[in-house]
Amino acid sequence: MKALYLLILLFSFLGFSQSNVYQVVDKNRFYKYAKDLDLESVDVLRENEDSVLIKTSEHNITKFSDLMHEKEHSCGAGSTHFDLQEAIDLMENAAKKKGEQGIFLAYSVSRQSTVNPILSKISATHYEKTIEELSSFYNRYFRSPTAVESSEWILRKWRDITKSRSDAESFLFHHPWSQPSIVAKLKGRTDKLIVIGGHSDSKNYSQNTGLAPGADDDASGIATVTEVLKVLVESNYQPEHTLLFVGYAAEEDGLLGSKDFVNYIKELGSEVLGVIQMDMTIHNTQDNKIHLLTNNTNAAQNDFLKDLIDEYVGVNRWATASLSGGSSDHASWNAQGYPASFPFEAAPGDLNSRIHTTADTLNAPGVNANLGIKFVKLGVSFLVELDK
Ligand SMILES: [Zn+2]
Repeated sequence: MKALYLLILLFSFLGFSQSNVYQVVDKNRFYKYAKDLDLESVDVLRENEDSVLIKTSEHNITKFSDLMHEKEHSCGAGSTHFDLQEAIDLMENAAKKKGEQGIFLAYSVSRQSTVNPILSKISATHYEKTIEELSSFYNRYFRSPTAVESSEWILRKWRDITKSRSDAESFLFHHPWSQPSIVAKLKGRTDKLIVIGGHSDSKNYSQNTGLAPGADDDASGIATVTEVLKVLVESNYQPEHTLLFVGYAAEEDGLLGSKDFVNYIKELGSEVLGVIQMDMTIHNTQDNKIHLLTNNTNAAQNDFLKDLIDEYVGVNRWATASLSGGSSDHASWNAQGYPASFPFEAAPGDLNSRIHTTADTLNAPGVNANLGIKFVKLGVSFLVELDK
């Protein structure tokens, strides 16, 4: 704690960014920790049953994120906005969508003869190498030059994987800050979208621009998305609907990249059949199961994931859980009414305590790249079984 206050004092002394932003935060958590914030610079603009909308400085947001990280072991504590109306819309939409199940889909598991040969092409060596290379950037903090370099690295990798396909397209999706999101698209016969993503940024929570390898959080998710793309292309899979592979920027600072991207998809008016988020896939010391998080996710789609895991990973290799603080980019989709799921690496009592530090590496205790292969299998089967 002491180090944190010293850091904040130092930031204040240096005149570190004092610009105000808007954040929608969990109401219970806000009031639980409000006493630890510099409340003179926090304006509570509105609140409802679940959330509070505050206007405050960027460094107060960082402080709140740090508190969430320290006390609740969570990442992506709230939803940050530069635009007030956007924050209000998010808050109102979330209240409206509460309890809704999104679109109805007749989920079924019926394409074993297509899925199984694709799964046989998964390379654990290639998967681990992607994590290793991505976590070798000094950090992928969304305001750092190395975040831009690492995003360009992912783009090159996805372009290389898809170079044989005339129906593929990979591009950077730019935001009001320097780190872009990365998108690869395999065009289907229809424009309906099925989305798989992870977040491309990493952050050292005790010093934003410090060393942050982010191997588990979330090079593992990007490696999962990359491996899914690779085996689909190697199998020359021709999609019926359009498959999107996304590396979201700036997740750690309030799901910023995914919010921007989901707004873009919403403006396009695209129909989205399903969204799956891969964020932390290689740490587990207890059960080697996939934990389906119930927070901000679609219950019907989660049931579909249970069937997929039973069929393609192993019977009962799943559990359900709710995280007290953890969130990820699926929440940005869910908030706008799209069906989203978040399969997670371990139970809430078995969290990787080294995320957001210099020690989030492939060598950390409880971390093993092979644990992530089940998420690649789930990702492939999700895309292919939904693609009908
Ligand atoms: Zn994460």
